[in-house]
Order: sequence, then structure tokens, then C-alpha cells
Amino acid sequence: MTSPPLGLYLHIPFCRQRCDFCAFYLEIHRENRAEAFVRSLKHEITLSAQQHVAANRPVQSVYFGGGTPTALAATQLTTILSEIRTHLSLTSDCEITVEAHPSTISEEGLAQLYQAGVTRMSFGAESMEDGDLARIGRPGSVSETVTAVARARAAGFTNINLDVMYGLPGQRLESWQRTLGHCLALTPTHLSCYALTVEEDTRLAANIQRRRSPEPDEGLQIDMDEAAQRILGDAGYEQYEVWNYAKPGYACRHNLLYWTNGEYLGCGPSAQSYLDGTRFGNVADLTVYETALTASRLPIEDRTKLSKDEQLRDAVIFGLRLIRGIPSQHLHRHAQNYGHATVTAQLLAQQLIEEDGAYSRLSARGRLQADTIAGLLY
Ligand code: SF4
Repeated sequence: MTSPPLGLYLHIPFCRQRCDFCAFYLEIHRENRAEAFVRSLKHEITLSAQQHVAANRPVQSVYFGGGTPTALAATQLTTILSEIRTHLSLTSDCEITVEAHPSTISEEGLAQLYQAGVTRMSFGAESMEDGDLARIGRPGSVSETVTAVARARAAGFTNINLDVMYGLPGQRLESWQRTLGHCLALTPTHLSCYALTVEEDTRLAANIQRRRSPEPDEGLQIDMDEAAQRILGDAGYEQYEVWNYAKPGYACRHNLLYWTNGEYLGCGPSAQSYLDGTRFGNVADLTVYETALTASRLPIEDRTKLSKDEQLRDAVIFGLRLIRGIPSQHLHRHAQNYGHATVTAQLLAQQLIEEDGAYSRLSARGRLQADTIAGLLY
């Protein structure tokens, strides 16, 4: 039997500065640290290919995330890609995504990425109103996003994603609708719309505690989510996951792996992997990460082998987020395994989960409470 393809995720842990709401593991970009990191990451790719089951598996998607991958020079990103091609076997139609902060990528850099085989650019626009960006401490301006998208097109990219957020401090329903309208004018193939969540130990959390910033308004976020579903649906985007919308044929292949319980290898500090029924994660510390690789050790700090029931649990919880849903028999088998039959019946009675023929999925209202429902079914 041939092994199914897997995805490769590269965590680039650098940003020029930290946005107020961000709790990701990252370091402030420094040239010498970036150089050393690129060497370590290439070494990790080599070791992973030698030591993991990943070695003989076709790779269907490569995703440079972070952090800000484009905090690295385009030449550094392309040398990482060459290393990947040397040690792993990419499918001929491999989706290769680079996340970019619009103010960190030049015309020349985009051309280099395109020529190296990157197929998809994902820009962290966050909002198309400068006032919103200022209130979340996100550097850069809307005009830089517009310029970056135009440059990406000029470089040859046709598959472009914009990440935007709603429920931002001071953002109103009308300004969110304007942001969506400005995004649509840029004709991306894909839009990810995330509700702002307040993470512990962020500047935003401290600002809310000191009453310098308002708390997110859940009711308003629900209205904004519904507006996104309506506006993007009318514009021909299919919502295929709770946060994600795509023109037909442009769903993100890499992210679909996460929601369909597919397998992926993560490289870089704090990157997570799921291979052969085992979840494992890298250490979230650049110095410890580099020290391990200098000693030719993989920087893995935890590893959990999932039982068949745990694999089904994860498949159900992630799969319900998909608009196409999951086979209903999987939901009911998981409910029996974990003693969730009553709560599942309640979610169905409240029409937060809907069943249609042989498939189950979150309803439109259920999608607005996706994280709570995931908690109930865990
Ligand atoms: S650019 Fe992205 S990863 Fe970097 S601090 Fe801002 S939100 Fe976090």
C-alpha cells in the first residue's frame, strides 16, 4: 500500500516587532540570529528526512508560517526550499505557501519566491482600516497591503490569501464590512477571517485589564461573522471551514490536512507534527532548538502516541469545523467511546450540529461556537 501524502510546516520564529494581540512563539528579527536559524532549520530538515517515516512519503504541501517568514530574506527562504527538495519528494502539484507581512516583502523578493516555485502567497492584512491596525499595535499600513498584493500579481502569483480579523478594539460592523469590501476589491482567491481572541500575557490583555482597550464584544463578533458569511458568499467564495473562504478550487490544501486528520511534519521551534498516529512538538525556544541541532539531535520535546479512539476523537473535533462535515457514524461512535452521547444529542437538538444524510457538521450557529463545542466533545 502506498503511503498517503503529507504536509510540511516550517515555523519561522521572527518578526520585526510583536503585535499587541499576538501570543505566538517568536523572536525579534536580528540578522545574525536569522542566519544561524536558517542553518539549524536546514539541518533539522536533513535529520528529519533521515529519521522519520516522512522520508519516503510524497509531500503535497509546504507551508512557511510563523512569526513572519518574510522577516527572512527571500534568498534565505529559497535556500530552505532547495534543502527541502533535496531531502524530501514534493509532488508535481505541491502547494507551497509563504505567509508574509505586507511591509516585509519587496518586488524583487516576490519575484525570487515565485521563480523558486512558491505557488501561494498569504498576506497578514488584519484590517483594511489604518485606525484598526494602530489600535492592535500591528505595524504597517493598508496601502502597504494593497501594494504587496499588486507586486505579488506582477511577480506571477495568482493564488493569494488575505488574513483579516474582526472584533478588533473600536471596530464597528460598518468598518468590518468596509474591510471585507476592500479585500474583495483586491480579488484574492482565499480569505481567512479570524475573530480576535484575547490571549494571556499579551499587551492587548494588559490594555484591557487597565481599561485602555475595550473587551471584545461577543454579540458584535457574531454579527460580524454572519456579515462575512453573507458578503463573501455573495461574492462567490465558499466557506469551507469555520474561518476560511475560498474561490472554487482554492481551498488551502495544507490547512485542510489539519481538519481532515491528515499527517504533517513540522520543523522549526515550537512546530507541531502528526505522523503515524503520533503527535510530537519541537521545543519553543530558539537557543535550545539550535543547541539540539548542533548536537545533531532533533529538537522534539514531547511525543504522544494516540490510541485509535483518540485518533477518532481528533478527526471528529477537527472535521466538524469543515462545512462538508464528517460521516455521522464517526460522530456517534466517538460520542459512545467518550460518554458524550447525551451532550451530542443536546447539540443536535439545539441545532448546533446538523445531520444531513450520512454527514454531520456544525450548523451556521454552531460554527460561531466552534471552540466551545470542541471542548464539550473532547
Ligand atoms: S506579525 Fe503575526 S506573528 Fe508577528 S507579532 Fe504580529 S501577529 Fe504575531
